[in-house]
Amino acid sequence: MREDGVPESAMVIEAHPDDAEWTVAGTVAKWAKVGCRVTYVICTDGNAGSLDPDITREQLAEIRRAEQRAACATLGVSEVVFLGHDDGQLEPTLDLRRELVRAIRQYKPEVVITGDPTRLFVNGDYINHPDHRAAAQAALDAAAPASEMPLLWPEVGALHGVSQLYVHGNDQPNEWVDVTETIEQKIEALKQHASQLGDWDPTEMVKEWSAEVGKEKGLAHAESYRVITLRRAPADG
Ligand SMILES: [Zn+2]
Repeated sequence: MREDGVPESAMVIEAHPDDAEWTVAGTVAKWAKVGCRVTYVICTDGNAGSLDPDITREQLAEIRRAEQRAACATLGVSEVVFLGHDDGQLEPTLDLRRELVRAIRQYKPEVVITGDPTRLFVNGDYINHPDHRAAAQAALDAAAPASEMPLLWPEVGALHGVSQLYVHGNDQPNEWVDVTETIEQKIEALKQHASQLGDWDPTEMVKEWSAEVGKEKGLAHAESYRVITLRRAPADG
């Protein structure tokens, strides 16, 4: 961890292309700007996310991977890993957990950013997508303790201990990241997901959300997290 609290490396684990841009991209841009090496792991290709009856799953997957890469380029993300699962069918299986352990052991992030798997209802008008919950559950389980268990899946890479988990979408945040300087970058990245936005401009909504989150801390725009700093005690196991 650097003196300013920005990690040296971070991994964002999400279900769909565009999830990170809606939620944590202001933080990602801020950290990447000062040298944090950020890797994205996207569990599904978002290949059911279209109302166009003429498009195939394969075509959509290709479009959405390209959109995610463009968004990552906007944010300064160094690498994107696509696990290639089908949209709408993700489950927090042991196979998915092992795939995420492999990614964590390969890229060795200091911080893992993901969603809150316990979040089911949002604002009285939205049920959190089952893929979001599945990706978040598998991500947390992969980061702690699976990625640092020597006898668990040694074939997928050398052990790595993640230091902190940044969970977004949690009702009891304990960390606010000031994204005032990167909110425009977040919106620019989000706009790369044109297949999901159509003609709609998300600027106003995204700014309203981040302003609401920031208000409590006197920040113009913020993203909030429940941060879990993992305890390391060998006897714990
Ligand atoms: Zn999503």
